[in-house]
Amino acid sequence: MTSFAFFQRLSKSFQDHPSHLKLILLCTTVTGGGLLAYSDAASSEVPVTEKKKVVVLGTGWAGTSFLKNLNNPRYEVQVVSPRNYFAFTPLLPSVTCGTVEARSIVEPVRNIAKKDFSSFSSEQKEVDVLFSEAECVKIDAENRKIYCRSNMNNNLNGKEEFVVDYDYLIIAVGANVNTFNTPGVVENCHFLKEVEDAQKIRRTVIDCFERANLPNLSEEEKKRILHFAIVGGGPTGVEFAASLHDFVNEDMIRLYPGIKDLVKITLLEAGDHILSMFDKRITAFAEDKFQRDGIDVKTGSMVVKVTDKEISTKELKNGGEIKTIPYGMAVWSTGIGTRPFIKDFMAQIGQASRRALATDEWLRVEGCNNVYALGDCATINQRKVMEDIAAIFKKADKNNSGTLTVKEFQEAMNDICERYPQLELYLKNNQMRGIADLLKEAKGDVKKESIELNIEELKTALSKVDSQMKFLPATAQVASQQGTYLAKCFNRMEECEKNPEGPLRFRGEGRHRFKPFRYKHLGQFAPLGGEQTAAQLPGDWVSIGHSSQWLWYSVYASKQVSWRTRALVVTDWTRRFIFGRDSSRI
Ligand code: FAD
Repeated sequence: MTSFAFFQRLSKSFQDHPSHLKLILLCTTVTGGGLLAYSDAASSEVPVTEKKKVVVLGTGWAGTSFLKNLNNPRYEVQVVSPRNYFAFTPLLPSVTCGTVEARSIVEPVRNIAKKDFSSFSSEQKEVDVLFSEAECVKIDAENRKIYCRSNMNNNLNGKEEFVVDYDYLIIAVGANVNTFNTPGVVENCHFLKEVEDAQKIRRTVIDCFERANLPNLSEEEKKRILHFAIVGGGPTGVEFAASLHDFVNEDMIRLYPGIKDLVKITLLEAGDHILSMFDKRITAFAEDKFQRDGIDVKTGSMVVKVTDKEISTKELKNGGEIKTIPYGMAVWSTGIGTRPFIKDFMAQIGQASRRALATDEWLRVEGCNNVYALGDCATINQRKVMEDIAAIFKKADKNNSGTLTVKEFQEAMNDICERYPQLELYLKNNQMRGIADLLKEAKGDVKKESIELNIEELKTALSKVDSQMKFLPATAQVASQQGTYLAKCFNRMEECEKNPEGPLRFRGEGRHRFKPFRYKHLGQFAPLGGEQTAAQLPGDWVSIGHSSQWLWYSVYASKQVSWRTRALVVTDWTRRFIFGRDSSRI
């Protein structure tokens, strides 16, 4: 599309919707992001009967990224989710303390389904999308049906049940909080998973200050009420502890001067360090900073029981001694578990012993047809090099000589690394410049050019490669890249049907037509409070401090799902800078 055509469309949009002009003017002050353009209202011309029905479960990162990128009118899409909006989860800790308002980080899913956020191209066509606010309670993969129940907790008394048929099912339902069955956690702890959780935490923090401020309470009781315990030293627990510390020290102690010295924040972590998935420099900086800030970080402290007023911990560094800590508010943030209806489904398809729904690298659920799973509810079962060693050998040995030269292997290298990313990772981690180094290591000290390997020698050379296989982290980055990947596969489904030969031939019959999913890690942030953030960027580049905080602001502004939420979030940040956070209990 030419820039002239784009501006023509933009100006038409302004005439139709004058309020958008104001919005765009506001948004030009924001860093990053792409402009929102409306897709042409051309509805699909594909006869309804020829359309394939795609059912998407979930409106989180994976589900919405699939929806945003699906642009083939041959599909009719039905989305089923108990949430009729998308929530930008990385900003949930900011909602707990009122740095950002809850409504600023959500976008109605109907907006996302209707508009083309992904490109300016006038070639884009609308896909028919129907949304049902309900939860899926059962999947019947054999008959291609899902069973749903609407769950409206109000006077509508909605407990409607209905069944939906599908041709393709996309499972993107995220995960549950994992309590490890610790007694009392569900009853007494807050979780930080949904927007409602963040709102509830915000109200409870303010409640604690108001209660502790009441007359006639003993000093000891006030201390208990103002003790905030956070369980789990991962990115979410750490970010929440930092946000709470900022809220208390920048806003609350000014408003509650009489009780400010009684406030305490404790972070309980069973492992030896907080942020253990980050670079050691970040972990050390975070632990030092929290110590300076007066946040009590207790490592080696495993929570074994929670009552309404006390948390019991097993001190792993002290021979398992059990300690009890009085608390006013506890937030539980120790990782994720599988949703019950997904567990049932896994049992149905022979995956009962798995931790999450296992898929192949094309995100197809193993053990059933036309069902895909992505995001936090799924895990990719990466194919092992050793399982396919004979096929790899055959692929590389073009002249069928029975031995493999370095040159032959190098020619097949791109395809092999695409199919088995662990090979590339192994070479990188062992500082090998290429396959020649690997083969040389297996063969001994001979000239690289003259190396020839038979299949047994190739097995020896590649024997350690599979040890580099990694599970992908449960992050928004992974979920959203998977959604985009799958939508692109669906967009090209017909084209691939005409030309079913894909780039790889290792698996012979039944292999998929598309390149497997490859995750691209774009870096990770750990906000540590006081306008300081730690960033671990690709290539193990670490940056910590105020500059990373500005990078965090611009990345999170640019990653918003729409210009509307982008504008709201930036306005909230500005408001907080000027007026501080609001401490009203609403
Ligand atoms: P979700 O986004 O959880 O979406 C699941 C969807 O499924 C929801 O719409 C839900 O309503 C719906 N659903 C649930 N049950 C059913 C059902 N029975 N039927 C139909 N639909 C159902 N990741 C990062 O990369 N960077 C970060 O900074 C970051 N910060 C985070 C901070 C917090 C506080 C939290 C909680 C998570 C954070 N994450 C971050 C992780 C990230 O949010 C998740 O990895 C991501 O949300 C996973 O996406 P998903 O689509 O799989 O699941």
